[in-house]
Amino acid sequence: MEKNIPYKIYLSEEEMPKYWYNVKAHMKSKHAPFINPATQKPCSKDDLKSVFCDECVEQELNDTDELIEIPQGIRDFYKMFRPSPLVRAYFLEKLLDTPARIYYKFEGNNTSGSHKLNSAAAQAYYAKKQGLKSITTETGAGQWGTALAMAAAFYGLNLDVYMVKVSAMQKPHRREVIRTYGANVITSPSETTNAGRKILAEFPETGGSLGCAISEAVEKASVTPSCRYVLGSVLDHVLLHQTVIGQECKTAMDKYGITPDVIIGCCGGGSNFGGLIAPFMGERLEGKNSVEFVGVEPASCPSLTRGKFAYDFCDAAKTTPLAKMYTLGCGFMPSPNHAGGLRYHGMSPIVSQLFHDGCIKAVAVEQKSVFEAAVMFAKCEGILPAPESSHAIRAAVDEALKCRETGEKKTILFGLTGTGYFDMSAYQKYNDGVMGDNIPSEADLQKGFETIPKCKVNGSEI
Ligand SMILES: *Cc1c(COP(=O)(O)O)cnc(C)c1O
Repeated sequence: MEKNIPYKIYLSEEEMPKYWYNVKAHMKSKHAPFINPATQKPCSKDDLKSVFCDECVEQELNDTDELIEIPQGIRDFYKMFRPSPLVRAYFLEKLLDTPARIYYKFEGNNTSGSHKLNSAAAQAYYAKKQGLKSITTETGAGQWGTALAMAAAFYGLNLDVYMVKVSAMQKPHRREVIRTYGANVITSPSETTNAGRKILAEFPETGGSLGCAISEAVEKASVTPSCRYVLGSVLDHVLLHQTVIGQECKTAMDKYGITPDVIIGCCGGGSNFGGLIAPFMGERLEGKNSVEFVGVEPASCPSLTRGKFAYDFCDAAKTTPLAKMYTLGCGFMPSPNHAGGLRYHGMSPIVSQLFHDGCIKAVAVEQKSVFEAAVMFAKCEGILPAPESSHAIRAAVDEALKCRETGEKKTILFGLTGTGYFDMSAYQKYNDGVMGDNIPSEADLQKGFETIPKCKVNGSEI
């Protein structure tokens, strides 16, 4: 029975998760392994450990343990900004005049302004524990760079952040936050790496892309002693770290006897969505619930809804291992939009596999309608949402409006991944009525697909 639900459901420190939830332990079809492009064979642990921290590689390849302990050193850091509130969106429900019950999990209550600190903390902790001196990474919208800068400062590591050029120009203050926490910011493409120089020679006018910034950060890590590369989404271990979101939701909902019918999350690289749904998905795969899962992506970068399920590079310069995922092609250059965190060409292999197996639905939404929903939400629930998060708001609002038509009393949970204070130039465009929708044509997509490598494993093309 549903009890009287407060506006905000908080958990106590003791109720915070002590384990991450490894959804792969419940997946009957595991996703295909990473392939080393040089050997065309599955990546060995050593292949991966030359790029990533040892412990992250162990987690990346762990398909069997349902629960993986969160070290005390990470749980201590989490206490600064977790548990995050689960909010009953009473005001939004009223505004929409819907019989649906809407909940959102708010991950924006920390200086980085997003869920990304959950994985940044873990990855910086493991780098330090391994005795490394420095780490490198890329950042698009800047939330990941900020989160990692905070974590690197806390654990005492040097950090180089390759920041996508358009974002650095749109968000000079975001860049300054990263520098304030002590990290070095390099705009990408840059002259500091082979990958950057190559892309600049080919596309001198480019505003950069996440894929390109990844190439630079990986290259920098590989030529710097005692340094590893750290990624903010896509990979299994990042998704694993984000399962604190879903577990806190589940604990809070169980306390009040709430069962979600639909769980909605925005999808960039897929880690926040994967982390939000993981414990619910685990139960669904065991036949214990029938929750519907909806991933929301921008129509300008539609990897799930219009991409191909194929082995592809994780970066534009084709330097990373190949991952089997939904992809628009590693050379796909999304047109500039205002959801920098959702401009990635690929999708988490876990989310991709679940989508391929029909366990997840995907929708693509257009930018203007996303900002409409964002502004509606800001006015009635108070929080100024990140453009990325607002993709989930849009889909949740649409679901609630459907319930108004049908009279269904669905319980909707969505992930509110962050705040939009550094996205005011996007809001300005919206407020000035000059925001457009950039939807790639079939020909644009085709150009991207042509950059997906032909890949042979054991002699046959895959
Ligand atoms: C990075 C980011 C996203 C995308 O997250 P993924 O886990 O890569 O899908 C969504 N919202 C915000 C606020 C972000 O910063």
